[in-house]
Amino acid sequence: MEALRIQVAGCRKCALAEKRTNAVFGSGSAGSRLMFVGEAPGYHEDQQGVPFVGRAGNLLEKLLARIGLTRGEVYIANVLKCRPPDNRDPLIEEIQLCRTFLEEQVSIISPLVICTLGNFATKLLTGRAEGISRVHGQPQEMPDREGTKLFPVYHPAAALYTPANLKALEADFDLLPSLLGETKAQPSLEADTKNDDAVIELKQGQPEPEQLGLF
Ligand code: SF4
Repeated sequence: MEALRIQVAGCRKCALAEKRTNAVFGSGSAGSRLMFVGEAPGYHEDQQGVPFVGRAGNLLEKLLARIGLTRGEVYIANVLKCRPPDNRDPLIEEIQLCRTFLEEQVSIISPLVICTLGNFATKLLTGRAEGISRVHGQPQEMPDREGTKLFPVYHPAAALYTPANLKALEADFDLLPSLLGETKAQPSLEADTKNDDAVIELKQGQPEPEQLGLF
């Protein structure tokens, strides 16, 4: 995995390399049975070189806590490793140039479940055109990879702005332990309250630049 990280850090295959602060390779446990795949780094991820920091990252951590996990116990990566300017949608050619890095990460980690966060990761890994609002919460076999299930859910950033998406995201996360063959930890009231706070906080505060295509 370290050799792959070094390759990504030096990658200049597409124009996104020119404006990145850091390539964002991925983080967490490479031995995890559960992997999350998001879309692309945003502002904070680009600054820190770590996926899912900022408000969407905080929500992801609260959702993980809800099922008794920490971000160090799972692996988190994105389809694109470099930030698209102004958080625009990834371009098809960028995805095609970058996808081999994600595919190699999946091969190394060999997870039981890949939870795709939002439309771009879901469409890329399922190879199908159905959007996230139609397929979220429905496990499916990963094409060409026996033994790995895909589990599409809304992107946490989409849930920050829409309470109904947050409820759907929580309900989908509650299915993850059984999908992994584990006993589900009791969801804590604290996690529920904090997630509600996350929505309220965004309504009251200055929103982050919205990432497009999350629905
Ligand atoms: S987005 Fe992917 S392909 Fe493009 S420069 Fe970054 S690592 Fe390379």
